[in-house]
Amino acid sequence: MIYADYNGSAPLSREVKDYLFKRLEKGPFANPNAIHYLGSKTLMGMENARAVCAKILGADVPQIIFTSGATEGITTVFHSILSGLNPARDQKKTIVTCGLEHSAVINTAAFYKSQGFNVHCNPVQENGIVDFVALKKYLEAYHTEVALVAIMAANNETGVIQPYKEINEVCQKYSLPYLCDTTQFIGKTEFNFKESNVDYAVCSGHKLGAMTGTGILLAKDPTTIKPLIIGGGQEHGHRGGTQHYLGNETLAVALNSLPELFKHVPELVRARIAFEKKVKAAHPEVVILGEAAERLATTTYISYPGIHGQAVQIELESNDIFVTTSSACSDNMPVTSKVLRAMGVSDDVGRGVVRISLCLGSNPETYAELATHLIKAYDKLKKVKSY
Ligand code: PLP
Repeated sequence: MIYADYNGSAPLSREVKDYLFKRLEKGPFANPNAIHYLGSKTLMGMENARAVCAKILGADVPQIIFTSGATEGITTVFHSILSGLNPARDQKKTIVTCGLEHSAVINTAAFYKSQGFNVHCNPVQENGIVDFVALKKYLEAYHTEVALVAIMAANNETGVIQPYKEINEVCQKYSLPYLCDTTQFIGKTEFNFKESNVDYAVCSGHKLGAMTGTGILLAKDPTTIKPLIIGGGQEHGHRGGTQHYLGNETLAVALNSLPELFKHVPELVRARIAFEKKVKAAHPEVVILGEAAERLATTTYISYPGIHGQAVQIELESNDIFVTTSSACSDNMPVTSKVLRAMGVSDDVGRGVVRISLCLGSNPETYAELATHLIKAYDKLKKVKSY
C-alpha cells in the first residue's frame, strides 16, 4: 500500500503512536484548568508540550495558542482584525488575498465581504506563484485601505512555495497585519516564526502526524487576538473551552521529530525529480503543475490532458495507491480547481490532475514504485481517453 495524500492528512506518526500508547496507559487524565493534583499534572504536561512547540517553531511560549486546526486559527485572525472595524465608516476595509488560498481563507474572506468589507484578489502567475510585483504595487497604492493581508506560504495542491518573506516586508513597512497560511509549509520545510517576522501563522496537527482536531495559531502579539470561542477564558482568554491536552501533547511529539526529518529533504527532492522525469519520458504529454517554481519536497501535481484525474485515481487505487485529484476538500467536484483556474490552467489540463503527496519520512524508493504504477495507469487509460 502506498499512501500518497499527506497534503490531505497524514496518518499518526510512529512517534505519536508510541507516545500515545504509553500516555494512555499512564495518565493523567484531568481538566488541565483544575487546581487539584491531577489537574496540575495534566496542565504541566500540556505546558511542556507548548514549550516544545514554541522551541521547534521558533516562537515565544505565549505566542502559541492551541486550536482545533488551521481553519480555526485562520478564522480567529480574521475575527480578531475585522470585528473591530466598521466597513461602513472605517477607511480600512479591504482584505487582500489571492486565488491560490485554501477555502479556509477564501470562504472566510467571502463571509466578511458579505458584511461590507472589500476583497482584493491579487493575480497569480502561470507558474503557481502569486504575482508579487502586482501585490507590492497594490499595497503601495492602497495601504491606507487595507485591513488584512492573507497569503499562504506553500500551496496545498501544487506545493509551490510563495514569496511570503517579501510579502511580509511590504506588510511590515505599511503596518498591515499579515496572516500567512503556513498549514502546508510547517512540517514539510523549516519554518521559524520569529525569523519569518509574520504577524500570524497557523499549523495543523493532522498534516504533521499529530492527532486530528489539533492545531496552533502563532501570534506575534497575542494581545491582538480576540477569541472566536469565548467560554471560560482558557488559553489566556484567546480560545475558550477545555483544551485538547492529549492532542496538544501529540503536536509537540510530531513537531519534535521534524529536525531529524528535514535531513531527508535533499534525497526526497532528487527522488521526486527522477520520478517526474521518468513519467514524462514515458508520456511526454503529461504536465506538471508549478514545475518551474520552487516546490515542497514531497508534492507533485501531474496531469495527462484527456485522461480524467479521477480515472487515474481509481486505477491507482486498484493497486492500493491512494492519491487525490486536487485538495481533499474539493475532490468531489470533477472540475478544474480554483487554484488552477487562478494560474490560468486550461480545463484540458485541469481535469486531468492527480496530486501525489508524500511526507518527509517516506522512503525515497516509493517514488520509483509510483513511477511504475503511474506509467502503467496512463498506458492503459490513454486507450480510452475520457474527455
Ligand atoms: N490551509 C491549507 C493550505 C490547507 O491545506 C488546509 C487543509 O487542507 C487548511 C488550511 C485547513 O486545515 P485544517 O484541516 O487543519 O483546518
